[in-house]
Amino acid sequence: MDYKSIYEKAYELMDVQLIDGDCGKLCNHHCCRTYDGEEKMGIYLMPYEYESMLRNSEFSENLKVERHTSFEYDIPHNIGYVHYIYCEDEFGCFRHLRPIQCRTYPFEPHMEKGKLYLIIEKDQIHNCPLIDKMDQWREEFIRRIYLGWKELIKIKKVRLMVEFDSKQRYDSNNIKIKLSESDILI
Ligand code: SF4
Ligand code: SF4
Repeated sequence: MDYKSIYEKAYELMDVQLIDGDCGKLCNHHCCRTYDGEEKMGIYLMPYEYESMLRNSEFSENLKVERHTSFEYDIPHNIGYVHYIYCEDEFGCFRHLRPIQCRTYPFEPHMEKGKLYLIIEKDQIHNCPLIDKMDQWREEFIRRIYLGWKELIKIKKVRLMVEFDSKQRYDSNNIKIKLSESDILI
């Protein structure tokens, strides 16, 4: 499977703003912050994202990249490992290369009975001020993020990861808003 083509298509689809203007000005870029108290924070990449888009790029040259395995972290065994990266304020954001996690937030992909949804979780570490103002969100953002995930779940390990997270979310009743394909692609 040509993972790189799928990621390139998803990056292009998901290169879209949540609202008109820079929403980071509303919250001092809270979802980009690099520390949670004393603890240094990073971002998980999706399976094959590093190899397809970020390895040997200006992004990875400047940032610390770790490999987290399923033996040490809460990652499904059939995925094996995923990459975890740390943004550093001093290098700024390589916005055209920002990872899927940054593009999709505050939506998460969610799967139930083989169907893909976009959801907003109840537990939010970022307290995004726009979550209760969905009327301000651009329809294009919602549509393109959904279409991007539709591409990405063609990759088996991405799909397994989404299904794994979805089950945990479903079991812990951690869904605040859930949009189906028919809600989004009207
Ligand atoms: S927390 Fe919300 S408002 Fe703030 S930068 Fe992230 S998406 Fe934008
Ligand atoms: S890659 Fe850019 S958008 Fe993503 S967390 Fe880092 S600074 Fe923020």
